[in-house]
Amino acid sequence: MQCSPSRWCRPSMLQLCALNIDMDPIDHYLRARSYEPRSTTNLNAIYEDALPRFLDVFDRFGAKATFFLVGKDAANPRNRSRIREIVARGHEVANHTFSHSQRFRHLDRQEQYKEIAEADKQIADVIGTRVIGFRAPGWGMSEETLDVLEELDYRYDSSVFPSRLLSAVASANWVLNRGRLARTLGGSQDIGRAPKVPYYPAKDALWRRGSRRILELPMAVLPILELPFLGTMLFLFGRGVFKASAWYMRRFEHPVVYGLHGIELVDYHSCIQDERLKVKPGLAKPLAVKLDLYAGMLDQFRQHYSFVTMRELAAAYQDG
Ligand SMILES: [Zn+2]
Repeated sequence: MQCSPSRWCRPSMLQLCALNIDMDPIDHYLRARSYEPRSTTNLNAIYEDALPRFLDVFDRFGAKATFFLVGKDAANPRNRSRIREIVARGHEVANHTFSHSQRFRHLDRQEQYKEIAEADKQIADVIGTRVIGFRAPGWGMSEETLDVLEELDYRYDSSVFPSRLLSAVASANWVLNRGRLARTLGGSQDIGRAPKVPYYPAKDALWRRGSRRILELPMAVLPILELPFLGTMLFLFGRGVFKASAWYMRRFEHPVVYGLHGIELVDYHSCIQDERLKVKPGLAKPLAVKLDLYAGMLDQFRQHYSFVTMRELAAAYQDG
């Protein structure tokens, strides 16, 4: 059944859960904190080490997901067969810019176009079909981003984090990282007021409903409480808080766009070995513990949701 996001209706009786994995490269975590990589760190560990683990654990739980790829990783010949395997195993790949610049939303339209179009080209070249979805680095985008995506005929964007607490979360992260990280996430303050369900943004006011052609699939946020609902919280607060959040989320019958990161399933001890990054929640936990957290999360979602790719979620909400 198709339904319009402008009316508050559900596409089916079973709620929809779209798992997404932002495949941010390891050097992004270092650069964002102004660190130089160490020789003991495998900078391609997201693809070489974590990706097979994601594919296996998703298979175990019958989960489909959408992987947001950074174009320069897709351009790396060593990753081509790995990316094709993502698609072969029933998942979607989408665009996460070419170089994952933290300044992305401050780039002008032409520079943003280059970042998006170059990643698009690299990814499409590897998988042999076109890509229709996008997410900006750090959930930071501008009106120009949506203009470019419409020009390239993208079907959906998923860069809106509709939480009024996002700037507080960014400040907490800044303190946790002793000032080594940028203090902003997500863009303008108004983004916090954006709808928490899929919507078509207004031209020149992307946090409001309007008549753009591109559909926005916002990240999951707990309504009223405004708390982000994503994998980072699972690693920070553990399974009990996750279960309570998932229970709460279900009261609202929203589709869940649940954000994960490639680095979450990297084996720190064999691939990273850099204590400067230990500030990342759960990074140095033993692999068995990380996989157990994922298994609990996937089991919860499996009981109450139908897993869909972002492309399928968009299709369920697309008008006519
Ligand atoms: Zn990212």
